[in-house]
Amino acid sequence: MKQWQWVLLAMILALIAGAAINSTCVVSTDPMEFNEAGNSLIFIFDYIGTLFMNLLKMVIVPLVFTSIVVGIAGLSKTDGFARLGLKTVGYYALTSLIAILIGLTVVNIFKPGLVNGRPNEAIQQQMEANAEEYRGSVSGKLQGQEGGLSAVRDLFLRMVPQNVFEAFGANNKMLALIFISLLTGVGLIFISEEGRSAVVGFFQGLNELSLLITNWVMCLAPIGVFGLVAETTAQTGLPIVLLLGKYFLVVIAALLIHLLVVMPILLKTLGGVSPLKHFFAMRNALLTAFSTASSSASLPVTMRGLREGAGVSNRVTSFILPLGATVNMDGTALYECVAVIFAAQVLGFEMALTTQFTVVMLALLTSIGVAGVPSASLVAITIIVYNVGIPNAEVVIGLLLAVDRPIDMVRTAVNVFSDSCGAIVVANSEGETLFVEKTGA
Ligand code: ASP
Repeated sequence: MKQWQWVLLAMILALIAGAAINSTCVVSTDPMEFNEAGNSLIFIFDYIGTLFMNLLKMVIVPLVFTSIVVGIAGLSKTDGFARLGLKTVGYYALTSLIAILIGLTVVNIFKPGLVNGRPNEAIQQQMEANAEEYRGSVSGKLQGQEGGLSAVRDLFLRMVPQNVFEAFGANNKMLALIFISLLTGVGLIFISEEGRSAVVGFFQGLNELSLLITNWVMCLAPIGVFGLVAETTAQTGLPIVLLLGKYFLVVIAALLIHLLVVMPILLKTLGGVSPLKHFFAMRNALLTAFSTASSSASLPVTMRGLREGAGVSNRVTSFILPLGATVNMDGTALYECVAVIFAAQVLGFEMALTTQFTVVMLALLTSIGVAGVPSASLVAITIIVYNVGIPNAEVVIGLLLAVDRPIDMVRTAVNVFSDSCGAIVVANSEGETLFVEKTGA
């Protein structure tokens, strides 16, 4: 069996194991508690999954930095950089906007927060009964970050660190890391040939090394994925999933429209490639994104899939993918829009067309700053609900947080797939020949 088939098998087994624990080891559903056997198994799954995630995350900082620096420095002229930059940003903005509009349309047609035109009372009762718990979990997640307009401003402040090494420190400093990498790459174009080749040669080696380590890590993917998916399935509270059933369906349907309709159309028309072939080339990346719910952790796998599977040049992948993993989040942007409007519906908050327009703009803006880690869009959703003034919305967000992971898995797969399509579209526009006699892992 091929590696991706092992991963798929692990995922199916994990779903079965998780569901078995969920149905046999739960002693109380509200809040979810497990018996001793259940707790031990979940602990083991969590341990394995976290170890795998850490292994993937470990290579992100050197990979992002060296990819961007080598990618840009290799362009050797700033007009090449500007051209790639413009195409990339254009693609990001276009696809994120399309995604948000799909979310907006679907949530307005199906109105998952309403029953017969009135706010869903069962959901309201659940929120009232657990209001404190939900508020607590949201403020715990926000960890002192503010939700007002200042948060939008801070997104950009975070981009410029006071100290270069701050950018290499924590995962949530991704925007800063990208900023420093872009600056270094562009700077290298202007220094002496001698200086440039010394620096680029070193980073090129480091880049290859990071990808090699990724290949090693991916040998453990079936085990890691099993741990991640089994834990998520075991800990997903079925009663709340059922309570929010219509909401789930609406979000997943909107995400699937983007993934299975919009993206293939773009691949065919702007990318000039067969969508099926591309899905196949990205199979490992999609499986990793789905099981880790982290675009950043999936980045090394996405990069490998595009280079080895689709035959996109290092020049394009190096530039577009690291940027895309943080900046381009179609699934997240779509989700933010649906979640905010759902919150308004459940709370009986009337949303005028102008307010919905504000939601669209803020979803577009905030999705740029969302880190590529699980449940990261919660911060962005909080920013939007504060800015459009939906009172008490944190209770709805807390409720959604309780069942966020399954949706996060799907939206992350959409985020990653859109990044990969961006690379195809740009590579095609740069005249690259794609999918030539390479089948990938
Ligand atoms: N988990 C998503 C990602 O990594 C971000 C989010 O929507 O929470 O792409």
